[in-house]
Amino acid sequence: MVSLQLLTNPKTSPLYCHTFSPKTLKNKPRTLTVNSLLQYNRKPQLAGEAPRVVVITSGKGGVGKTTTAANISLSLARLGFSVVAIDADVGLRNLDLLLGLENRVNYTVFEILNGDCRLDQALVRDKRWSNFELLCISKPRSKLPIGFGAKALVWLVDALKGREEGTPDFVLIDCPAGIDAGFITAISPANEAVLVTTPDITSLRDADRVTGLLECDGIRDIKMIVNRVRTDMIKGEDMMSVLDVQEMLGLPLLGVIPEDTEVIRSTNRGHPLVLNRPPALAGLAFEQAAWRLVEQDSMKAVMMEEEPKKRGFFSLFGG
Ligand code: ADP
Ligand code: MG
Repeated sequence: MVSLQLLTNPKTSPLYCHTFSPKTLKNKPRTLTVNSLLQYNRKPQLAGEAPRVVVITSGKGGVGKTTTAANISLSLARLGFSVVAIDADVGLRNLDLLLGLENRVNYTVFEILNGDCRLDQALVRDKRWSNFELLCISKPRSKLPIGFGAKALVWLVDALKGREEGTPDFVLIDCPAGIDAGFITAISPANEAVLVTTPDITSLRDADRVTGLLECDGIRDIKMIVNRVRTDMIKGEDMMSVLDVQEMLGLPLLGVIPEDTEVIRSTNRGHPLVLNRPPALAGLAFEQAAWRLVEQDSMKAVMMEEEPKKRGFFSLFGG
């Protein structure tokens, strides 16, 4: 049996628990009668001061930063928090695509810096969740706008704090791959980071390097998401376990996201995974990660276990 559950303190926390058999999972992935975390009867308590400026980074490209940024920011908005997501992946921007907002991006930071529009004109408000807004740095495939760098991004985040409608609860920054100028710019206004890694050695090496750079920049609050995890491969010892990853990086675990074909489907549709009903496994995992990002003291919350008595990799979340 596989059980997926979120349980902090059973007395004080809402409870999410669902049990299903691997056979059910294999044959009917879309008809799982799992309940969303959104059925919780309370809003999580925001730990830390608003706005929490969180950069989603990795070092290596293609590990799931944009997928994470899209799903976590929408999950946060659905939990009732005001969220601004900034696509700082200049030139290779695709957060708008994943969110299905590409046709609504008329202005970017490039036009703000040129004096062609105001900040509020460049912010794209989601019609589904009015407390969610997207800000893109530039048009797709364009170069870094002249005059755009760390100072400009810090200025933008400060401007977001000073808006009439109030400071957002979260500013999430989707960081480009690599550790060059785009990376330095993207991390500059952040006071916390979510490091996305896949359980493979190249991604881990890059993640480790990025952790060092984040710390040098004064970002000490770093949590990790292990993405594209496959239990079958871990069982066959063809993939590192989440515990191995944790031991190598020594970072608190924000979430473990399974490899899930629904991610690719939702990417191509421009329909974020966390909006899927019934929810996909990866969508639930992102929702859980969002919850834990809000309530920082619930880092030990998630358990997704296999064969409860054995030390399955999912049973080792969060120490
Ligand atoms: P990055 O922003 O780090 O370059 P993306 O979020 O764009 O990475 O993801 C790269 C590719 O991997 C996309 O095609 C995405 O659909 C796919 N992907 C990401 N996470 C998963 C997952 N958990 N399961 C399956 N595919 C995934
Ligand atoms: Mg990306």
